[in-house]
Amino acid sequence: MFQKKKIMIKKKGAIIIDKERCKGCGLCVHACPMKTLENATDTVNQKGYQYAQQILPNYCVGCASCATVCPDACISVYRGDSNLAEIIKDCVRIIYLKVKREI
Ligand code: SF4
Ligand code: SF4
Repeated sequence: MFQKKKIMIKKKGAIIIDKERCKGCGLCVHACPMKTLENATDTVNQKGYQYAQQILPNYCVGCASCATVCPDACISVYRGDSNLAEIIKDCVRIIYLKVKREI
């Protein structure tokens, strides 16, 4: 007889951190259940903060805990069902904010 196999589909997620706005508080690092984030140890952003970075992007499940706790809304989260237009819009917004700060 056939045995039914359980197929588990892991929900994938992705994040973008606006590192120049990050204050390095580490709240997102502690909030991530998958332990995919850490504060930079050998580099700082233009304000001198050890910004958060994702070190294990393949483990991100898109739960958005990191974005929820970030006091400065530096993190954008995308899930498997996010559409490309949404992702591009956020990338453009981040680039625009960076350019605006440098002028
Ligand atoms: S979305 Fe969830 S799994 Fe992905 S980095 Fe943020 S807290 Fe971690
Ligand atoms: S919670 Fe926000 S400000 Fe704090 S380290 Fe993470 S991204 Fe940076």
